[in-house]
Amino acid sequence: MGSLFDAAAQSLFATLLPSDCRLCQAPLTRIARLPVCDACLSGITPISGRLCAVCGERIFTPHADAEPVCGECRTTVPPFVRAMAYGSYDGGLRELIHLLKYGRVRPAAGVLGRMLAEVIQGLGSEFQSAVVVPVPLHNRKLRQRGFNQAEEIARAALKKLNRSGLTLKTGVGVLERRRATESQTGLTDHQRQENVRGAFLVTLPKPIRSQDVLLVDDVFTTGATVRECARVLRRAGADRVFVATVARVLKSEVAWAIPEEVEESRALKAYA
Ligand SMILES: [Zn+2]
Ligand SMILES: [Zn+2]
Repeated sequence: MGSLFDAAAQSLFATLLPSDCRLCQAPLTRIARLPVCDACLSGITPISGRLCAVCGERIFTPHADAEPVCGECRTTVPPFVRAMAYGSYDGGLRELIHLLKYGRVRPAAGVLGRMLAEVIQGLGSEFQSAVVVPVPLHNRKLRQRGFNQAEEIARAALKKLNRSGLTLKTGVGVLERRRATESQTGLTDHQRQENVRGAFLVTLPKPIRSQDVLLVDDVFTTGATVRECARVLRRAGADRVFVATVARVLKSEVAWAIPEEVEESRALKAYA
């Protein structure tokens, strides 16, 4: 019902407000809050193949284990139980995250939140209830961006899941970033870990004490940030920490080589 009118209205709007897909520049045929075409959205697919059961990195060595663990996690056991991501930080997914963070197209959080919801579903049987904590931004960055993308994505995911037992905790005291740590260029994994040490703190541990925590971020890059957050949360009394991110940098793939601040400055120019 009303499809003729809708079609007419849509084409009228398309004439009035010509808009292109922000990812591939193809003209959009309908008005949507998110200016991204269906082809670009359906091109974003989950990570496939064999992954480390702890950190989610891709594993190439043939192993018979049902739950393979990568060499890095075998050497240094991470402070989180398990980290899972929806997709590889590449192509359309990377652009969609940029659209939210640097293009400040907030409806992108809805789509990214649905992907995060799938990750949380995947972790689902691991915990009955959890305090959901988005990785915080430094205040300066928060003021500059106007919102914390991890928090926006977490909200969208929880709305989609509508599952009891998941409580979002944000704001002062839960987990704070007291030092900006963007400058990770040219650092080795070990140096990155040292660079984030002391960057986060919990000043009001009550909500997380003896609770399982689900740490949420947009991208798992080297894991230095989530490892440090998990360490600080556990030290403040959290029971187990799980990590859910929308995307993960897989070491075998291209985005690995690009430092975050280089990406950011490029992306900000593109969205200027
Ligand atoms: Zn497109
Ligand atoms: Zn691993």
